[in-house]
Amino acid sequence: MTDEIINNLQKINSRIQQACINSQRGTGSVKLLLATKTVPAERIKTALLAGHTLMAENKVQELKEKYEALKTIPHENHFIGHLQTNKIKDILKYEVTCVQSMGRLELAEKLHQRLLSENKQLDVLIQVNTSGEESKFGISPEGALQLVEQVSRLSTLHIKGLMTIGLLSAETDKVRQCFRLLKSLQQQIIAAAIPRVAMEELSMGMSGDLETAIEEGATIVRVGTAVFGQRPTPDGYYWNESIAVR
Ligand SMILES: *Cc1c(COP(=O)(O)O)cnc(C)c1O
Repeated sequence: MTDEIINNLQKINSRIQQACINSQRGTGSVKLLLATKTVPAERIKTALLAGHTLMAENKVQELKEKYEALKTIPHENHFIGHLQTNKIKDILKYEVTCVQSMGRLELAEKLHQRLLSENKQLDVLIQVNTSGEESKFGISPEGALQLVEQVSRLSTLHIKGLMTIGLLSAETDKVRQCFRLLKSLQQQIIAAAIPRVAMEELSMGMSGDLETAIEEGATIVRVGTAVFGQRPTPDGYYWNESIAVR
């Protein structure tokens, strides 16, 4: 099992490197984020110890369950799932450093209130629904600039860029359109020169489409299956609003 994870990580690294080379980008310009939903702490540990120290959970419950087992290993924890406002305090308690799934103002405001009371700050990425699928979270592309402006006024939150889940499709061209859209929103937001807003990160691309995402400018690729193997739970459990808020 350990060997398999190490082997998979090497394969992912070469895929990332090759994609960087193909698109004339520096090989250090893309970070690998381990998407660890459903993966037991022991397996995550193997990957962290191999030097891949950026990871993210989708559910606060899993964050909590694995926290003790992983806390002595240096790593950085992002959050990439649907965050319910009543779970905000746990995000801070379990030391998440960036919420990549910031897609609504109400959540940002509640997070800000909590951060103020704890005298803390947090990085966020604005999640955009670039595929137009109803099951996906995130602000619409049309609403992205306004949400960035609104969130930028909350002093405890630091916007670092944008995140999207591309269309899950074998049609590369359609997937590429999603990533291109995110890139063009990034350019629009940069042009708007909003104070306190950084647009250095584009978190896009997963096991099946990371090459396309890197070609379109990804700086963070979020990989689960290709490192840890198939998940037992269908992704609808994590992504579909009606199911996820249960
Ligand atoms: C699960 C997940 C990933 C990783 O997906 P894989 O196809 O397993 O690589 C990336 N981003 C988000 C938001 C996820 O929930």
